[in-house]
Amino acid sequence: MTAPVSGPDRRERLKALREAALHRPVLARHLSDGFNGRWSRRQWVQASLFATMGMLVLAIVPGFGTSNAKPVHAARQSLALALPPLPLSRAQGHSGDSWQLVRVDRGQTLGSVFAKMDIPAATLQQVLDQPGARQALTKMKPGTELGFDMPVNGELRSFRYDRDEDHRVEISFAGGKAFQKVVERPSVTRTVVLSGKVGSSLFRSARKVGLTPANINTLTDDIFKYDIDFNEDVGANDRFSVVVEQIWREGELVRTGPVLAATFTSGGKLHTGFRFQRDGKAEYFTGDGRPLKKSFIRMPIPYARLSSGFGARRHPVLGRMRMHKGVDYAAGTGTPIMAAGDARVKSAGWMGGYGNAVVLDHGRGYTTLYGHMSRIAKIRAGQRIGQGTVIGYVGSTGMSTGPHLHYEFRINGVHRNPLSVTMPPPEPLSGAALAQFRSQTGVALARIRQVENVIYADAAPGPSPLSRALAPKKKSKA
Ligand SMILES: [Zn+2]
Repeated sequence: MTAPVSGPDRRERLKALREAALHRPVLARHLSDGFNGRWSRRQWVQASLFATMGMLVLAIVPGFGTSNAKPVHAARQSLALALPPLPLSRAQGHSGDSWQLVRVDRGQTLGSVFAKMDIPAATLQQVLDQPGARQALTKMKPGTELGFDMPVNGELRSFRYDRDEDHRVEISFAGGKAFQKVVERPSVTRTVVLSGKVGSSLFRSARKVGLTPANINTLTDDIFKYDIDFNEDVGANDRFSVVVEQIWREGELVRTGPVLAATFTSGGKLHTGFRFQRDGKAEYFTGDGRPLKKSFIRMPIPYARLSSGFGARRHPVLGRMRMHKGVDYAAGTGTPIMAAGDARVKSAGWMGGYGNAVVLDHGRGYTTLYGHMSRIAKIRAGQRIGQGTVIGYVGSTGMSTGPHLHYEFRINGVHRNPLSVTMPPPEPLSGAALAQFRSQTGVALARIRQVENVIYADAAPGPSPLSRALAPKKKSKA
């Protein structure tokens, strides 16, 4: 443990850190290694240097996305990250001062945390007597952060917790009394462009510029899944630019929202994807407004083994030749079964030889059936569900010899082979939605280009794939 550090000493140390960091060749590494979304003080020091060196370029994109956040800065800027403010007691340099942050573990209560810190029960009672404290502190989620200002060998001076995202409560103790102060911590939403080159690992580079693992999954599994093979096609010089919303509070990044727009330039070819709300549901679309999601997934259970194909076969239970009107996937009892496409639940219940079965109506004449389930998930007839929703679990109910999923795909009532039938293309955007979509994507692409122009020499004005994408479309004569 380090000894208590007084103000001037601390400044000296910070200065030394700055000096050392400035002469270190690869600053970015330190920011990426072990970055878990929460920044230590050391990382903050590096981050602020990093920003002033112009390597971390963020841009504000006003008016893009679904949020109504007001842009807080000019169109493009590099962002200098300030050190988070020190608590008052610390800034004033009390001797022996030490704020300790404690993260609540699963099953821990405020009482057990206080006991572990050796704080008397009377103090705990004083905390709980403060207005609002009992509600906020008796049901704490694991990971909740509590702050204790407790000098070595001394009594608790202050205790603090976050009542919610925008309010921090600080309770101070003096002369046997407790005083509560609620500090508002307003957050700011910024829409930013995060851009980087793939380098040795897309994941690492993307984390380094500030994308979350969920953002990266969206890029690889939702947006560019069908266009780019991330195991084979991607080179170190390929680059990505992603528009996201970041929620900041007191110079600290609190949360990063979903990917709003993304470009991936691979081998000189530009790929794009955009998030857009259609019928109140967010989906990803190509630049010309076609959904990136396929209307049906081929297999309602991932990684299952096809145990019986479509067509004539000897029936395993009845023993005579009979048409098999679906396909069977062998999988363990209890394996979740997903809806193959967005649908309305047509029926969910017992269906004779099918056992526990679910029938989904996908519209446009498409229906799917899932049989022999051990158990049906919490769905009911008439309910609307999204592609991938778990509708039940593999079993062997009805006329079945072992746990498997019997899956049928029908078009206008006619059974088709789900493994070979041409799936219908998903419905593209049209009309007013398409017009709104185009105006949003135009803004996003322009901002991405601005950022790329700053970061990459080869993205400078000229016939780059991105500027071609931005060029006004020639109006075709009807
Ligand atoms: Zn079957």
